[in-house]
Amino acid sequence: MAWFKKEKYTTLKPPVMKDRIPEGLWTKCENCFNLVLTKDFEENLKVCKKCNHHHRLTARERIAMLADEGTFQEMFSNVQPTDPLGFVDSKPYSERLKAAQKASGHDEAVVVGKAEIDGIPVGLGVMVFEFVGGSMGSVVGERITRLIEYCTEYSLPLVIVSASGGARMQEGILSLMQMAKTSGALSRLAEKKVPFISVLTNPTTAGVMASYASLGDVIIAEPDALIGFAGPRVIQQTINQILPKGFQKSEFVLEHGFLDKVVHRKDLKKTIALFLHYFTGQKPRSWSDEEVTEASENRVSA
Ligand SMILES: [Zn+2]
Repeated sequence: MAWFKKEKYTTLKPPVMKDRIPEGLWTKCENCFNLVLTKDFEENLKVCKKCNHHHRLTARERIAMLADEGTFQEMFSNVQPTDPLGFVDSKPYSERLKAAQKASGHDEAVVVGKAEIDGIPVGLGVMVFEFVGGSMGSVVGERITRLIEYCTEYSLPLVIVSASGGARMQEGILSLMQMAKTSGALSRLAEKKVPFISVLTNPTTAGVMASYASLGDVIIAEPDALIGFAGPRVIQQTINQILPKGFQKSEFVLEHGFLDKVVHRKDLKKTIALFLHYFTGQKPRSWSDEEVTEASENRVSA
């Protein structure tokens, strides 16, 4: 007689997922982990409605957000990356470039061109963080410099949106040289009194922050963006001290005088248009006559 009766195993059928959420319908906020409807999230320019965290935008989304529809014309895309040092780390730099091009859909870490922002013509440069962390190699430096020179020649206001981890290590000194080159070009732009609005997004650090990103006539940042030269962890280890709360975040940098304004993404285009109006006297297309009067009154009182 058996002590235990063997039950017959039955195969469990997976439940029918009638109410399954279709993929991509919800997006999880990377800061507060709340779920938000992807449609609402995108309508809100990828800013979390619950905690106000500004998620990273791709360069294409950034251009679509800032430039008036259909006005962006890419320039200097003929400047293409090479591997001047024949650099190899865990894999050859040339292979890294190809992989980055495939993954990001961009040929380099910056897109530059002409555009209109609320009807005002500008030279617009947008860094592509999704391409090797928006690092500045020879191509980024050269495209930015050519854009600056174009703006100098045609007295076109310049707007650059930065997002970068710094210099492109695989290009060594050639990458560091871009800091001096872009800064030199900007000094000629300034001599001609052509305005430059620098927009810093998360993160803007190292070689880019130490050159053109910090040389704007007006420097605007998105909230809570990491802005600095070396990252907080490196600084903490070097000086062996606990860093203050919010160190290297936009609001902290603003308080310490390195920024002019922290602007919510939904107000960014409006704010840039306002500064363009102040600098050039041109009227943003969407403004009423009352808004022009109001702006000039604010300008006087400021
Ligand atoms: Zn959130």
